[in-house]
Amino acid sequence: MDATSRPGRSHAGKVAWITGGANGIGAAVARRLAGEGAHVLLADIDTERGTALAKELDGAFVRCDVREPEDSKAAVAAAVERFGGLDIAFLNAGVAQRTGIGGDFDIAAYRRAMAINLDGVVYGVDAALPALRARGGGDIIATASMAGLVATPFDPIYGANKAAVVGLVRALGPNHLPENIRVNALCPSFADTDIIAGTREDLEKAGFPILEVADVVEAFMAILGSDGAGEAWFVVKGRPSEPFRFRGAPG
Ligand code: NAD
Repeated sequence: MDATSRPGRSHAGKVAWITGGANGIGAAVARRLAGEGAHVLLADIDTERGTALAKELDGAFVRCDVREPEDSKAAVAAAVERFGGLDIAFLNAGVAQRTGIGGDFDIAAYRRAMAINLDGVVYGVDAALPALRARGGGDIIATASMAGLVATPFDPIYGANKAAVVGLVRALGPNHLPENIRVNALCPSFADTDIIAGTREDLEKAGFPILEVADVVEAFMAILGSDGAGEAWFVVKGRPSEPFRFRGAPG
């Protein structure tokens, strides 16, 4: 913990909107926040798993395709109506959709990946800011990736949209800090969720260590407990007592 951290910050009674909250990292963060007494509004296209998890956590689920700006606005409105406001926006929905460039370029896959991973975060920020302002401040945490900070060979389009999210967050951080809204990015290396199901073998062959989802949750909580803004937190597998080693961009 550094001098700017807020280790005693309580999340009880806080309201969190989590995109991609039905599975993987979003679902794990939802469990953790709900366990600490927060109200969670899960927003996802996976209605079945989202509804079941919301029920389990005594939260709420809304079907939300983050490619549609109106869906994000409706999700925030649902959080305000159901729980009285919004304190945390975790803009986490994302896909890894490999497409090559030059010969095997798939324009539909490209547009889908950019629309979910980049446009979805932009629309999410736009929807969340008025509600956070109405509350007197709060947190926006976007899930980017290690691929947005350093070169990874597997998916150049993923690297492009995740680097754009890091750039967005860096610009927004100082802009919104004066209104007590902290905007930061969570940048995991590879983590054990469905998203890497198709690439796990390649990753393991290439010697990449794979994070437990619990490591990513710890990093999310550390961001939430910090006073930083416009920062990208690089989450890498390390010793159990030191799950992340870099804060901000390398170099
Ligand atoms: P996941 O596949 O388990 O979860 C992704 C969730 O996003 C799913 O619930 C899915 O239904 C939802 N989603 C997909 N398209 C959507 C849309 N259009 N609108 C709303 N929701 C949508 O994978 P995950 O690893 O938990 O991914 C969460 C985030 O973490 C993503 O942004 C991903 O890029 C990022 N990330 C993952 C890893 C990793 O190795 N797992 C590493 C770095 C970054």
